[in-house]
Amino acid sequence: MVIERRVLVTGGAGFIGGHLVRRLLDQDHQVLVVDNFYSGSRSAIESLLGHPRFELLRHDVTFPLYVEVDEIYHLACPASPVFYQRDPVQTTKTSVVGSINMLGLAKRTKSKVLLASTSEVYGDPEVHPQPESYWGHVNPIGIRSCYDEGKRCAETLFFDYRRQHDMPVKVARIFNTYGPGMRPDDGRVVSNFVVSALRGEPITIYGDGTQTRSFCYVEDLVDGLVRLMGTGHEVTGPINLGNPREFTMLELADLVVRLAAEDGVRRRSEIVHRPLPQDDPTQRRPVIAQAEQQLGWRPTVALEDGLRATMTWFRKHLEL
Ligand code: NAD
Ligand code: UDP
Ligand code: UDP
Repeated sequence: MVIERRVLVTGGAGFIGGHLVRRLLDQDHQVLVVDNFYSGSRSAIESLLGHPRFELLRHDVTFPLYVEVDEIYHLACPASPVFYQRDPVQTTKTSVVGSINMLGLAKRTKSKVLLASTSEVYGDPEVHPQPESYWGHVNPIGIRSCYDEGKRCAETLFFDYRRQHDMPVKVARIFNTYGPGMRPDDGRVVSNFVVSALRGEPITIYGDGTQTRSFCYVEDLVDGLVRLMGTGHEVTGPINLGNPREFTMLELADLVVRLAAEDGVRRRSEIVHRPLPQDDPTQRRPVIAQAEQQLGWRPTVALEDGLRATMTWFRKHLEL
């Protein structure tokens, strides 16, 4: 049985947040979304505005927030390189000052607080695949550092609040997640490839395309986050949440082109190459033994199936 709670979701107007909020409402919780619409949008959750247990507050988490809640999912932070590099100082502030404020709020309200951290804390990993015990290989002064180091510092803050105040903190290290609800202009690889394929336009691979990522379907990911929040005081993480199937960007491009053809797209996208951005990780795959043991969680949606659902959503959304 699920006990009804007042749940705060920061970044709830974003991609993962939108799915999480709907899951929490389905579980009969009261949900307060706090978002400044930096990379999310009001339209993403507009359909929920009339819901009796849903509230939306436009607010930047780098400023203090005084509300009464029982649980906090702290997701606020742009996640696509295109967005987090647009205003890098704000990105670091969001992770660091935003986390201090949410931890202060959690301390006062005695709430459980969960951080949406990232596989980027492993940087360009020299250990492969990545277990939680790996400390990472991060450039502290590069163009990705605002995001990577911001999240690393956020993790530090979560564990220091734990040590200093014995707070119920949870840290999830999320690996590349995709699905319906991504912005078409988000800039991440799955949305870029799917949108280009549906339009029959060229698919752009950065570098030679041999770099790898492991893609998790958003509903699987949300399931992992909710399970982690449901754990007792002893479970803090950091815990990897991701799909351990690893693909090169060339394989991803081929798969997306094939699925678009099966979906009736007549003009087949050609594949073009652009230079690889600075510090782009060459490989990434999670070890998920901790999530399996502590949460009883593992992803269930295969990339091909998740991409089909994503494609269907984009086709409708873009009116293609
Ligand atoms: P997203 O950009 O779609 O959503 C982030 C949301 O946070 C947006 O609605 C944005 O407007 C909001 N936001 C940003 N700065 C804010 C601020 N200062 N105050 C209030 N709101 C703010 O990204 P997403 O993919 O939904 O990611 C959600 C979280 O999960 C992020 O913390 C991200 O770092 C983490 N994560 C995501 C992935 C992924 O693959 N999607 C992977 C690893 C970690
Ligand atoms: N804070 C907040 N909401 C609250 C409680 C605190 O936004 O309900 C912010 C507050 O601005 C503070 C930060 O969280 O700067 C950290 O709070 P904490 O109690 O840990 O530190 P202190 O207030 O002692 O600086
Ligand atoms: N990428 C690409 N074409 C695109 C967008 C991204 O080849 O249109 C590459 C990018 O260089 C990276 C991988 O795809 O190697 C994943 O990029 P994304 O921005 O989705 O996530 P992240 O690099 O943060 O894992």
